[in-house]
Amino acid sequence: MSHTIAAADLEHHITQLFIAAGSCSAEAQQVASNLVMANLSGHDSHGVGMAPRYIDAVLEKNLVPNTHIAVRVDSGMLLGLDGQKGFGQSVGVQAMDLAFERVAQHGACIMSLSHAHHLGRIGHFAEMAVARGWVSLHFVNVMSRPVVAPWHGGDGRFGTNPCCIGIPVGMGDNAQEPFVLDFATSRVAQGKMRVAHNEGKQVAPGTLIDELGHPTNTPGVVVVPQSNGKYGALMPFGEYKGFGLAVACELLGGALSGGGTWHREADGTRAVYNGMLSIIIDPKALGTQMSFAQETLAFIDWLRQSPATEGSDGVQLAGEPERAARLARKKNGIVVDDATWQEIKDAGAKVGLRF
Ligand code: NAD
Repeated sequence: MSHTIAAADLEHHITQLFIAAGSCSAEAQQVASNLVMANLSGHDSHGVGMAPRYIDAVLEKNLVPNTHIAVRVDSGMLLGLDGQKGFGQSVGVQAMDLAFERVAQHGACIMSLSHAHHLGRIGHFAEMAVARGWVSLHFVNVMSRPVVAPWHGGDGRFGTNPCCIGIPVGMGDNAQEPFVLDFATSRVAQGKMRVAHNEGKQVAPGTLIDELGHPTNTPGVVVVPQSNGKYGALMPFGEYKGFGLAVACELLGGALSGGGTWHREADGTRAVYNGMLSIIIDPKALGTQMSFAQETLAFIDWLRQSPATEGSDGVQLAGEPERAARLARKKNGIVVDDATWQEIKDAGAKVGLRF
């Protein structure tokens, strides 16, 4: 069973939930709109299904509503920021806005953000940068529970550490939709396992190992504790290369930002913290604005001329699936499965709200 809900109605309900949990209405709306945008973009893993976990984290006092970033280092092009356990959807945007001021002044900014609660879809931040005609790169670690196994390792040692690169394509009248590559370095996002588990589905071979290190297709192994009290693990994407990128995200997003890396057993708390290293560049300041715009168009055009392989829809570029999902879901509504909807209602009850 599932419910189909219009995006605006869903955003309204989730806004009420965060207001009940202590957020001011502007923050509640910002978080709710970000989560609904993840659903609209086809990433239910990072949509409203995360809200119950956020409510638990607030009740555990590990997520602090109405928090502002603290500026630890500000030397012009270099920003060292601390999210102080605030909602990632809020402190992440505050951090990007400050970085954008620096890009406007200096042409580029290297910004690190530590101790943000879950930043949600990292593509959201790249979309903010490409809308200004700027390139952005993001390396992120996840401090929650070690759910991804190292290449040739038999248990989870780190998080789904996302990596994201946004690149504007063309400029002015010739601008096309941007390239927005945004992915977890696990073969699939952990939240997609929660969604599959809630829907009673199996997942593709090669995605998971169980709590004993054996291959399995059952997503529950990373969602609920198994018979020995332990969880299974997700595999990294792209074999040892994806594993290497995941480690880079941990060291750049976690160690370099000051937020820390994961090197302990899970403690069962519900908070999810992210550390993020972001690099934002204005091509104009680099002196390549015109040729960059021409080359991005020429290269994308060249890629699109590649003939479609049999049975495929042909070449797509990163960012396109999300934009297509937005069009479809804005029209048809967002499907929320029964288990997720019940979890949202239960979360409401915890903060005195009845849907
Ligand atoms: P995914 O596997 O669906 O990959 C998404 C990326 O691949 C997008 O850039 C998309 O445009 C591109 N893509 C998809 N199909 C394509 C095709 N046929 N051709 C070309 N490009 C294609 O995403 P995911 O790994 O499940 O990650 C989902 C979301 O989860 C991301 O937004 C990520 O930022 C987020 N995430 C967040 C955290 C966190 O702690 N905050 C952790 C992990 C993941």
